[in-house]
Amino acid sequence: MQNNSVNPSDLNPHLQFDGVTGELQFEKTDLSGLAQTYGTPLYVYSASSIKEAYRAYASACEGLANVTICYAVKANSNVHILKALAQEGAGFDIVSAGELARVIAAGGKPQKAVFAGVGKSAQEIEYALSQGVGCFNVESEAEMTRIGQVAEKMQRMANVSLRVNPDVDAKTHPYISTGLKENKFGVSMNAAPRVYQFAHAHPWLNVHGIDCHIGSQLTDASPYFDALDRVLALLDQLAADGIEINHLDLGGGIGIRYLDETPPTPAEVLPRLIAKVKDWAQSKGRSMPTLSFEPGRSIVGNAGVLLTQVEFLKENEGKHFAIVDAAMNDLMRPAMYKAFHGVVAVQNNAHAQPQEYDVVGPVCESGDWLAKNRTLAIEQGDYLAILSAGAYGQTMASNYNSRGRAAEVLIENGEVTLIRRRETIEDQLRPELDV
Ligand SMILES: *Cc1c(COP(=O)(O)O)cnc(C)c1O
Repeated sequence: MQNNSVNPSDLNPHLQFDGVTGELQFEKTDLSGLAQTYGTPLYVYSASSIKEAYRAYASACEGLANVTICYAVKANSNVHILKALAQEGAGFDIVSAGELARVIAAGGKPQKAVFAGVGKSAQEIEYALSQGVGCFNVESEAEMTRIGQVAEKMQRMANVSLRVNPDVDAKTHPYISTGLKENKFGVSMNAAPRVYQFAHAHPWLNVHGIDCHIGSQLTDASPYFDALDRVLALLDQLAADGIEINHLDLGGGIGIRYLDETPPTPAEVLPRLIAKVKDWAQSKGRSMPTLSFEPGRSIVGNAGVLLTQVEFLKENEGKHFAIVDAAMNDLMRPAMYKAFHGVVAVQNNAHAQPQEYDVVGPVCESGDWLAKNRTLAIEQGDYLAILSAGAYGQTMASNYNSRGRAAEVLIENGEVTLIRRRETIEDQLRPELDV
C-alpha cells in the first residue's frame, strides 16, 4: 500500500466496500449503479452523514450554553441539503444575497441567518434587511457605515456583529487562513472599539455581538483558544467603554480527514470553548453570553463523493495518466490549493494491473488534475470515486470549457433522490441568447 492511498471507511463509516462484491457503497447503495443511472460526473451525498455531523455539533453544546450552529452555506449550497439542515434546526452562515435566497427556498429562517463577507453591496444589504436577516457580521468601518445608511433609508433596525481579526495563525493553507492581520477579513483589534462606538451611537444599528472566524481546515484546536482569549480581552475593553456584548460567534473551520489528518471533533473543542467563556463571564459578574459556531466543511466534506468514469488511459514517456470525465471545473480544489483527495476504484477490476496514475480531466489546462501518483487497477470505462468532495466541490464548480455542471444525488436510508439535474448546453446558452 502506498502512503497516499485512503480507505474510504476511515473518512466516513457510511462509505464501505461491500464484503462480498468488493464494490464501494454509500449508505449501502452501490455507487456503480448510481453512476449508470444518473451518468458521470456525479456528486453523491449521504444525508445521514450530514445529519450526524450536524448533530455532533449540536450535542457537543447541549446543556452547556445557548448555542446556534450556523451551517456555512458556501461549503455546499444545494437547496435540498440546506433543507435537511434547516429541519435539524440549523441556522445559516451566508456570504451573499444569493445564499440567503437559497436558505429561504429551503425553508430556513432568515432570522437564523448571519450575513458575513467583506464586500456586501447596498442591494444585498437591502435584500437581507427586507427578509429580516438575523445579523450582519460586519468586516470594515466602511461597511458598517453602509449598513447604517441602508437601515436608515428602510427605517429598519439592523443587528450587527463586528468580525474581528485576532491575528492568530490557524496553521492551515495560506488561501484558507483568515485570522492573520495580512488577510482581508475582519477588523483589527485596535480598530474594533472605534467601529463599535460608531455602531453603538447609530440609531438604526443594534450592536448584537462579536464574530471571529480564523480559517478553514484547522487540524489543531489551539488557535481557537488563542483567538477566544483575544476576543474576551476586547470584550473587557468594550465593557469599560460602556458597550456590553452578549453574543459570541466563534466561526467555523474545524478540519476533516482527507488523507491522514486527525482534526479535533466538535466534542473536543466546543465544550472547552464554552467553559472558557463561562469562566470569564463568572469572573466578571456578567451573564453568560449566547454563542454561535459556523461550521461548513466538517458538516458536508466527508458526506460527499464525486463519481467519474475513466475515458482513456494514456502513457507519455513512462508517465501514466487516467483521463476521466470529471475535471477542475467540477472539483476546483486540487487546481486551486493543490488539495489532496483520496481516489478509489468503485468496483474491483480483476483484469487490470495496478499502475501509478495521475488522474486528470479533459479541460485544456495543465492545472486540470484531480489526483497525482495514485496506484489504481483500472481500465477504460471503470468508475472512480473522488473522496471528501462534499464541501467546496459543486459550490466552486464552473462552466469552464463550456462544460455543464455535474448532477447531484442525495441518499437517505437507501432512497436516492436527484437533487440537481445535470446542466445542459441550453442552460448555459440561455443568458447569452435571451438578450
Ligand atoms: C467559510 C466560512 C466558514 C466555514 O468554514 P469551514 O472551514 O468550512 O468550516 C465559516 N464562517 C465564515 C465567515 C466563513 O467565511
